[in-house]
Amino acid sequence: MIKDNFGRPLNSLRIQLNATCNFRCFFCHMEGTEENGETMSLEEIEKLMKAASELGINRIKFTGGEPLLRRDILEIIKITRKYIDGDISMTTNGYFLGDMATKLREAGLSRVNVSLHAMTQDSFKIITGNSSLDRVKHGIKEAVRAGLNPVKLNMVVLRGLNDDQIFQLLDFASEVGAMVQFIELESSKEEEDQDWFKKYHVNLNFIEDLLRPYVRGIEYNSLHRRRILILDYKYSELKVEIVNPHRNHEFCMNCTRLRVTSKGLIQTCLHRPDQRIAIDYSNPSEALIKATLMREPYW
Ligand code: SAM
Repeated sequence: MIKDNFGRPLNSLRIQLNATCNFRCFFCHMEGTEENGETMSLEEIEKLMKAASELGINRIKFTGGEPLLRRDILEIIKITRKYIDGDISMTTNGYFLGDMATKLREAGLSRVNVSLHAMTQDSFKIITGNSSLDRVKHGIKEAVRAGLNPVKLNMVVLRGLNDDQIFQLLDFASEVGAMVQFIELESSKEEEDQDWFKKYHVNLNFIEDLLRPYVRGIEYNSLHRRRILILDYKYSELKVEIVNPHRNHEFCMNCTRLRVTSKGLIQTCLHRPDQRIAIDYSNPSEALIKATLMREPYW
């Protein structure tokens, strides 16, 4: 396994499969890229996966855009599973999950994160630009039923838009057997002073306070050493992760991943679009190694 100059091993890739999405979340960071158009082909993805496995990478996260908009998504998962025997996961808006969950599981997907930024129709529409809350909830139930495990529900908490829906999300997660990630609104250093960020950003300590009476244990996420609260909640045990902003040393210290943009550029960090390396598909390891050696903690 290769390590960067700060002693951090590389064991994970976050791969943006496309830059198009059928939702319009107004706060979306687009995974730190502003690409559109052509995306990596299945053949290119296969070459990248082969090189990744040879370098000891055993965790792959697919994201977008919306990854389920790719018609070859099942082939992508199958090809990935050929080389990666560890964790293969995906972040999706859930719109297509109802039809796809079982097929994704059979293709080799381990687990799924579904963005669920609101629990009322009105706020869902305001946040995502789409009126499909019920369809997304159905997709989540199908994902649990298909055996994707865990199914994590991602809510980016936004002041005045969904910060009053914390317990509604917990109720739903508990009812269907999913876990929850409350995500603090993230921005680059430059955006922190912008009006939109100041308007919607809310510190997540208030959620910890709300949950305290239910907490009966704590676990740690293996990728970034984030705390996972184990709650005794209504129907069952419920796991809740509070994803504080990346802007802390602890996050960067435990970061073990590189990103791949939809066009197939290796990017060192969400906030470093200036640090990108093109892949030469006759030798993809070279770009992975070069990018690893460029990695430096952003925060
Ligand atoms: N379309 C998919 C979806 O909606 O989940 C995948 C792409 S989306 C960029 C991946 C994740 O990033 C989602 O959970 C989304 O909520 C999160 N995200 C996007 N912008 C964010 C921001 N400014 N702060 C925190 N999380 C953000």
